[in-house]
Amino acid sequence: MRLLLLAPPGAGKGTQGQALARHYGITHLSSGDLLRENITGGTAVGRQVQAYLERGDLVPDSVMDALLQTKILDAVKTGGYVLDGFPRTLRQAQRAFRGVAGQSATADTALQAVLFLDVPEEALVKRLLARGRGADDNEATIRHRLQVYHTETEPLVAYYRGRGLLRTVAGDQPVADVTQACIEAISELTG
Ligand code: AMP
Repeated sequence: MRLLLLAPPGAGKGTQGQALARHYGITHLSSGDLLRENITGGTAVGRQVQAYLERGDLVPDSVMDALLQTKILDAVKTGGYVLDGFPRTLRQAQRAFRGVAGQSATADTALQAVLFLDVPEEALVKRLLARGRGADDNEATIRHRLQVYHTETEPLVAYYRGRGLLRTVAGDQPVADVTQACIEAISELTG
């Protein structure tokens, strides 16, 4: 199974990503977690991206491509993936599923289903403030991340809808209900 969770910050991508990975026995790939691990680990990538995360700006596409491509291909070999946070721009979406040699996505690597987790904006801000996960969970940065989301990521909803790959799931309900709604939407898309 090859899935993408598309949602604004705070909508529950991480939680649902973990639940769906368990349900389907696939790999959960969170781009934000990978970046934060690099920062905590003091790697070269970590040093390169830290300021972007602190500002709530997107990390350059080239860094993200390098970070995710091999992991996506590895996950494909072991049952599939649920992507959380990547692709996040149209350009990333157009380039995401190429192999190492730069070929286009094949039937074996491309997305099968995209879930858009829909949560009202004020609920997002409340959740992110309550979570206080890191330097990017203060109100000014949260507002900026939501703005970046609207400009850069929201166009992906139409992009995937136009390809017949997307279902919208109401994200402002209990966690288990959201997971169940995701599973139903996935079986509609892949059935
Ligand atoms: P997240 O945990 O998904 O909210 O991501 C936290 C931060 O990591 C974002 O605010 C961005 O700075 C960065 N980030 C995560 N995924 C991407 C991506 N696909 N492209 C660019 N930046 C990203």
